[in-house]
Amino acid sequence: MTTASIIDGKEVAAGLRARIAERVAALPFTPGLRVVRVGEDPASGVYVRNKDRAAKQAGLHSATLQLPEDTTEAALLAVVRQLNDDPAVDAILVQLPLPRHIRAETVLETIDPAKDVDGFHAVNAGRLATGQRGLVPCTPKGVMHLLAAAGTTIAGARAVVLGRSNIVGKPMAALLLAADATVTVVHSRTRDLASECRRAEILVAAVGRPEMVKGDWIAEGATVIDVGINRLPNGGLVGDVDFAGASQRAAAITPVPGGVGPMTIACLIENTVDAAVARRG
Ligand code: NDP
Repeated sequence: MTTASIIDGKEVAAGLRARIAERVAALPFTPGLRVVRVGEDPASGVYVRNKDRAAKQAGLHSATLQLPEDTTEAALLAVVRQLNDDPAVDAILVQLPLPRHIRAETVLETIDPAKDVDGFHAVNAGRLATGQRGLVPCTPKGVMHLLAAAGTTIAGARAVVLGRSNIVGKPMAALLLAADATVTVVHSRTRDLASECRRAEILVAAVGRPEMVKGDWIAEGATVIDVGINRLPNGGLVGDVDFAGASQRAAAITPVPGGVGPMTIACLIENTVDAAVARRG
């Protein structure tokens, strides 16, 4: 039995943000980030404020465009096109979820791929899948930083990604594959999740089900990255992994909160700077 070491996302994110701030200070221009928010989804309000604060701390020019809940899809597309054409804007993020009357896919596909700081445009997804340079979704990119910080060997390792969303699971699998892991993606139609997970030397859980991954699903000595953020009825936050049980078997594990979450924002800042340098550098 082992007791896992904790992979401290706050610390790794702070280090990354400090390195980015140094990079920004050395640039002859100020990278610009625009976050577009439609309506008042309460959970995304906190994220948007955190993103804005982190961007400003890193020395970026960051602004949030807050649009009313009843904004039409056409009006939102016009805003996105205006930002596409604005030379001072390097990075555009349209905060999800959008109100139901707006097709998120149409909006995301309208963002200039060179400014698509979330990496959700099909062009960037295609670049990732084919090993070309592009903007990579922030959460899986953050996971790769955490694995590096934990000293986990990826090349040749058996990695299991639990979840296959376009935002986390699929790009996560692509990044691990690009780093030479042997990757299995499991999902709601997988026959025996527990035994698939038990084979993992690296397990990334991104399902959105509180503590679904039990301690006995974890291989001795595995590295466990818990992407899940689940709000309990009592107000507490837990991940997709039973942290206490998994800690008895894993070599290293991320906590929730304080694991992947802080990395997502740090990688958003990193992507903004990368996009700015690629456009103007
Ligand atoms: P989605 O709901 O888009 O995808 C969830 C995935 O998990 C799907 O592929 C689904 O399978 C699979 N799944 C759901 N239930 C089960 C089950 N019972 N057994 C097996 N597989 C299941 O979620 P996201 O990828 O957007 O997010 C996942 C989690 O990560 C959430 O908790 C979210 O809050 C968190 N998150 C955290 C971020 C951070 O910054 N830390 C950023 C983004 C997300 P199928 O495809 O078959 O339906």
